[in-house]
This record gives sequence, C-alpha cells and structure tokens, in this order.
Amino acid sequence: MNADVVVIGSGPAGIQAAISSSRRKADTVLLGKPSNSAISGTEIENYFGFAGVTGGDSLLSNGVSQAKAFGCNVIPQNVIGASADGGTFSMEIESGEVIVSKAVVIATGVSRNKLNIPGEKEFFGKGVSYCADCDCNFYRDVPVAVVGADSAAAAAAKLLSGYASKVYWVTEGMVADARLVDEARRAGAEIVPDVPVEIQGASAVDAVVLKSGGRISVNGVFIELGGRSSVDIAMDFGVMPEADDTIKAGAGGETSVEGVYACGDITGRPWQVAKAVGQGSVAGVSAADHSRR
Ligand SMILES: Cc1cc2nc3c(=O)[nH]c(=O)nc-3n(C[C@H](O)[C@H](O)[C@H](O)COP(=O)(O)OP(=O)(O)OC[C@H]3O[C@@H](n4cnc5c(N)ncnc54)[C@H](O)[C@@H]3O)c2cc1C
Repeated sequence: MNADVVVIGSGPAGIQAAISSSRRKADTVLLGKPSNSAISGTEIENYFGFAGVTGGDSLLSNGVSQAKAFGCNVIPQNVIGASADGGTFSMEIESGEVIVSKAVVIATGVSRNKLNIPGEKEFFGKGVSYCADCDCNFYRDVPVAVVGADSAAAAAAKLLSGYASKVYWVTEGMVADARLVDEARRAGAEIVPDVPVEIQGASAVDAVVLKSGGRISVNGVFIELGGRSSVDIAMDFGVMPEADDTIKAGAGGETSVEGVYACGDITGRPWQVAKAVGQGSVAGVSAADHSRR
C-alpha cells in the first residue's frame, strides 16, 4: 500500500497529526492501537474545552472518528519493522503488509517505568499515579508520597507540596538537581531516605511500607521513575535519539532526517495531552506539505 503520510502511534499526538494531515488532503494512514495510549483508562481534567473530568478513552475514540471523517485510513496495528530508502519510508505492520510513504510522523509515546512492588498495579488510579502534573488536584489536603531520585521527582515533590497536606519524598539515592531539591524541601517536602516495598490500602491507597520496616500513612503515591520510549522505529529511519531516549523535533516537528517528523511524549517532557495535540497538529501539517514537494 502507498500513502503520502503514515502516522505511527494512535495516542493524542498521532491522532491529531492524522486529523491535520488528512484535512490538508494528504493521503494519510494512521497506525497503532489507541488502547495502548498512555491516556487510555485515565481521567483528564486539564484539557482545553472539557470542563470537569473526561475519560481518556472517549477522547481517543472521538479523535479516531474525526480522522476517519477526514479520509484517514485507520489501521489499528503496530509497526514491526521500518526502513528508509532515498526519501521514501517503508513500514511493515503485524499483518505482514508493507506501507510505503513520502513522509512519516512518529508519535509512539513513552511507557512509564514502574516500581514493580505489591499494590502498585492494584491501586493504579486509586491512589497510585505516574503524573503529578495531571493528578495533583485530586490530592488536595491529604498526605502523599513521591518516589524517585531525579529532578522529575524533585519537581513533583515541590508541585504536590502546594496541594497535599504533607509530601513524603521517598528516595534511597539522590540524583536530582541540587536547586530543585532545595526548592522541594523549602516547599515543605520531607525527604525519607528509604525504599518502598509495598503499597497498601482497602479500596484505595492508605499507606506505603518501607524496606526499613517503617510505614507511612498516605492517600497517594506518585511514582516518578521516568519512562522508556520506543525509539527503535526512529532509528530504523536513521533518526538518532537523544541520550535520554527522546527524539529531538524542531518547531515544525521535523527531525534530523528529512521527511520524518515527531510529536508528543516521545519528544520529551512535559508529558501532557495539550502539548501532544499541539505538536501533533504542527507535525501533521508539516508531513502533508512535505509529501507534496
Ligand atoms: C495515568 C496517567 C494519567 C495521565 N493524566 C493526564 C492528564 O490528566 N492530563 C494530561 O494532559 N496528560 C495526562 N497524562 C499524560 C498523557 O497521557 C500523555 O501526555 C499523552 O497520552 C501523550 O500522547 P502521545 O500521543 O505522545 O503518546 P501515547 O498517548 O502514549 O500514544 C502512543 C501511541 O503509540 C503507539 N505505538 C507505540 N509503539 C508503536 C508501534 N511500534 N507501532 C504502532 N504504534 C505504536 C501506542 O500504541 C499508542 O497508541 C497521563 C498519563 C498517564 C500514564
């Protein structure tokens, strides 16, 4: 199959890129499974135009319908192999079919690193969160723990100190920027030099158990251990990722390889729907225009 533009990734960034590209009348294919998007199964309350809490899955399914309405060919399959050859791009999908395009948008997101301790999975969405920016408002005036050693954990501890009644920042080591650590401390976060071994609760989180044997009573546990992105597809196209596994994208979504664009979480923090959608819109238009050159 041939296309002008292939968008890889069916999260907010990729779906918006597909809408923008199709709307510009480029022959566009959208690949990937919305159910694997970071936003699937979540509730969003900070996205423009949606007051109150909105289900991530309804945003995804509405977005896919919009893309289809503009003529996008939606194929909910993953890319399992990719290559670039003299300005054209080939992608093999799970069915074995190969799609060849003039431009590509990579929007494959990141997957959050997990603690892998008892209670983490059970209480996901019931006190366990991987996004302080997204969920801080749900933890007003209750105690929370932040887990992680780097600057993202420091920023989360500082942010949450403005909402929660108490923030325990649980970290065995510390690699965060010293200024951010100081700011988190001054905002009221208490550093607990320990390792979480279990998250406990009844219907929702009520405590974190520590390796030392201690137990902290909290209603929220924010796991800030960074994330992994699937940069292998970008590398197959000749785009070298940054040291932190992000893909550098310019103002138009362009990467270091002509015809390859990137948007959303894979381009780095902040990991937010609004940013993903904004970047997706720009990358979709850029890719459509490139395909006509
Ligand atoms: C628990 C949680 C709560 C959140 N809450 C909020 C919130 O309240 N507000 C907010 O703004 N943000 C929130 N976020 C962040 C938000 O979900 C992300 O910023 C957003 O989903 C990023 O969009 P994306 O399109 O870049 O990546 P994703 O949504 O992760 O989509 C990536 C897509 O790429 C696909 N993909 C990956 N590999 C392949 C492949 N080989 N072939 C084809 N497709 C592939 C995946 O299947 C997926 O469809 C939350 C995140 C989490 C985890």
